[in-house]
Amino acid sequence: MEKDKASLVMKSLREGRVILTRDSKMSRFTGTRMVKIKSDFVEKQLFQLVKELDLALDKSDLFKRCIICDEKLENIKKDSVKDIVPKYVFETQSIFMRCPKCKKVYWQGSHWALVNKFLDRLRGE
Ligand SMILES: [Zn+2]
Repeated sequence: MEKDKASLVMKSLREGRVILTRDSKMSRFTGTRMVKIKSDFVEKQLFQLVKELDLALDKSDLFKRCIICDEKLENIKKDSVKDIVPKYVFETQSIFMRCPKCKKVYWQGSHWALVNKFLDRLRGE
């Protein structure tokens, strides 16, 4: 497992990434950007990240990337998803996006408003 940790640190350095960890033994790796997550609760964890990493939460960046491959989503015509998405979704939604890599289809569901409200709370609004 030590090898895995070292390889994770190397990858973070190579790609300019931040390591989020709860593993106290990771703190002995220096030279890479790391946040030691404190809370057991997701909401508190996110508050910690926004504060410690000084994250600018721009709503225009929301729902622009695939949650699986991180590829930029492309807009697609509603007609092209008729046989792919559930009937209710097709009838109630008008905007659809697709990941060019894994082909997963996205739409603005009811979670969209919830995420927006949550972001307001994270930004202290
Ligand atoms: Zn994807």
